[in-house]
Amino acid sequence: MGADNDLTGDVVDIGQQGDRAVRRDEAVRAAVEQGLLGPDSPIVGLLDVCGIRESAAELRAAFDAVTAPGTPVLHAFAVKATPLVPVLRLLREAGIGAEVASPGELALARAAGLTPRQTVLDSPAKTPAELREALALGIAVNADNPQELDRIDALMRSGPSRSPLGIRVNPQIGGGSIGATSTATATSKFGVALRDPGAREWVLRAYADRPWLNRLHAHTGSQGIPLSLMAQGVAETYALAEEINRHLGRPQIDTIDIGGGLPVNFGSDATAPTYAQYARLLSEAVPGLFDGRYGLVTEFGRSLLAKHGTIVARVEYAKSAGGRPVAVTHAGVQVATRTVYVPGSWPLRIAAYDGKGRPKAGADVVQDVAGPACFSGDLLAEARALPLLEQGDYAAALDTGAYYFAHHYAYNSLARPGIYGFAPGEGGGVAFATVRTPQTLDEIVAESGGAHAASLTTLGTTARP
Ligand SMILES: *Cc1c(COP(=O)(O)O)cnc(C)c1O
Repeated sequence: MGADNDLTGDVVDIGQQGDRAVRRDEAVRAAVEQGLLGPDSPIVGLLDVCGIRESAAELRAAFDAVTAPGTPVLHAFAVKATPLVPVLRLLREAGIGAEVASPGELALARAAGLTPRQTVLDSPAKTPAELREALALGIAVNADNPQELDRIDALMRSGPSRSPLGIRVNPQIGGGSIGATSTATATSKFGVALRDPGAREWVLRAYADRPWLNRLHAHTGSQGIPLSLMAQGVAETYALAEEINRHLGRPQIDTIDIGGGLPVNFGSDATAPTYAQYARLLSEAVPGLFDGRYGLVTEFGRSLLAKHGTIVARVEYAKSAGGRPVAVTHAGVQVATRTVYVPGSWPLRIAAYDGKGRPKAGADVVQDVAGPACFSGDLLAEARALPLLEQGDYAAALDTGAYYFAHHYAYNSLARPGIYGFAPGEGGGVAFATVRTPQTLDEIVAESGGAHAASLTTLGTTARP
């Protein structure tokens, strides 16, 4: 991979990559030995706690290295990437806040103990009730559009709020290689489209009329966006903040929220690009952003968690069709929705383990790794060269810590798998902690209208013609 970032020449920490793979292999083996994985629990999600801590520390260090001393910086993890309360708490302990985009995500952040000052609310469809709650709590809000700003105006007239408030703009710098994750196209649904006729003037007036608008927000990148384009989005946002403050003759905008979107390398264990590379690129492209006049907010999601998650699934059956071996596993569209539906944009590495959870040796064989769902496209990987997966082996989908197993898709009423964090245990083994218990059949029934079983049978039967 790496084709979509322009810094592949930089050296990455080989030791860290190796450690990551060793920790993963040990965890898979321990999960089998300790019974988290087996015939009766054929799929789990595993999270590498050391890896998450490392990425959080790397993110903080990367921006510390380029910002003027004393600059307030909030790294707000995009909760949508891994909406799991214990993960949010772990990140909080590592000095990372939360970016939320729905009442559910805000509830998760609060359950994890994040304070309003550590929380940012962005979303393109906030209701009046959501806005009222955010302003009452003092959570930072970025208004997506003029209609939302009208609602905030009304709330500000009805009472004071401690919330930092900003406007989200779309610099319309163009998309990347994946349309669904390109946020800064000309017609993106997000933010105020800055290059549209009259938009820039509207933004200037919005700030002039509202002395309490003190932030500016853009999120121009995500998977598939080259770093140079992300830096351009940040540069244009910074230039707008400068223009607004110059126009007003005062530093009204005191904080710039540069969004998230650092792409992830799904092709190997290497972290590429790194936060350090991105922060350095930004500090060269937009030096004024880091000179201490502006506080900073970042909103990274995928890049903090992706490489620390692994889905491990048992091979229930190994068969052959049309001359091709097919391993039928328990991981498919329910845990790897994007990969299954759009395999060209979201390929995942697959690792093969034997029935004891040890890395499988043997010559590579071109095979399909299928999921359990009842449609033929439910494939984790098609025509992939791997040691031959046999019945009772395990297939692992790597780099799935963000937007995968925490994003269950209830096709075929397949149960949400259990998720466990792992770390070195006392005395040398691997210790696991429950992040989320596996979904039970009773829960599936309850979530599928079980309490209303007869509700449709009587509806309409007593109505007069
Ligand atoms: C999704 C999202 C993010 C995080 O994006 P990643 O690609 O996961 O880093 C940050 N900010 C906003 C507003 C988002 O919608």
